[in-house]
Amino acid sequence: MERWLRLVNLIPSLDLSVYGEAEGYPLIVVRSEDHDPKMPSVYLSAGIHGDEPAAVEGLVRWAEASLEKFKAWNWMIFPCLNPWGLERNIRFDAEKRDLNRFYDSRKVPQIVAQRALMKGRRFDTAATLHEDYDARGFYLYEVAAKRPHWGESLCGELTSVIAPDPRPKIDGHSARKGLIRRRITPDLMKGHPEAFLLHFQHAARTFTLETPSEDSLDRRVQAQERFLVTMVKKLKLEMVF
Ligand SMILES: [Zn+2]
Repeated sequence: MERWLRLVNLIPSLDLSVYGEAEGYPLIVVRSEDHDPKMPSVYLSAGIHGDEPAAVEGLVRWAEASLEKFKAWNWMIFPCLNPWGLERNIRFDAEKRDLNRFYDSRKVPQIVAQRALMKGRRFDTAATLHEDYDARGFYLYEVAAKRPHWGESLCGELTSVIAPDPRPKIDGHSARKGLIRRRITPDLMKGHPEAFLLHFQHAARTFTLETPSEDSLDRRVQAQERFLVTMVKKLKLEMVF
């Protein structure tokens, strides 16, 4: 929280606000104050699962190093969606819910509040940052309506930090060099994750990055950061200013 506040103080076009609370922890969003339709629009989030610290640290570290350069873009950043869990290294929230299964319901007040902030917004790209204890390397989900796909080149950049998960099937899905490209439909599962909502309503490209929890924290943070650097670079190249 302190680091994000410091950063927002340095970049006047950004605003940090508290949109809710969970077990006494403030839930924060960092956004661009004005929306400029000529500029790229990006959604980022981390920490919905409290036992995935490299995602939260990687996001703030990337922001500290890079956000200033892209201050004219339109940002919506959720630095940590489950601070109670993060402090305790617990995946779930205090009510033992996997928060990432409630994006199609109105049962969890903090997700209802988060969705209200997203209402009507379109993003050129969105990323939700995660970690996985079962992973044997990094892996990346790509769901994108837009072509060409970015998954292969994003994974290629990450390989110099952490090797991709070599399994041909990850979490029940076919994977190739750590890339899972899923076709998803609204009726696929009850209890939508954040990435489904983003894909169906808000984003032309949605990525979910998973770094392997058993690798070193430093390398996992580096991988999260490298992913964000590369994704922003791809978007910059794609947009015509
Ligand atoms: Zn997760």
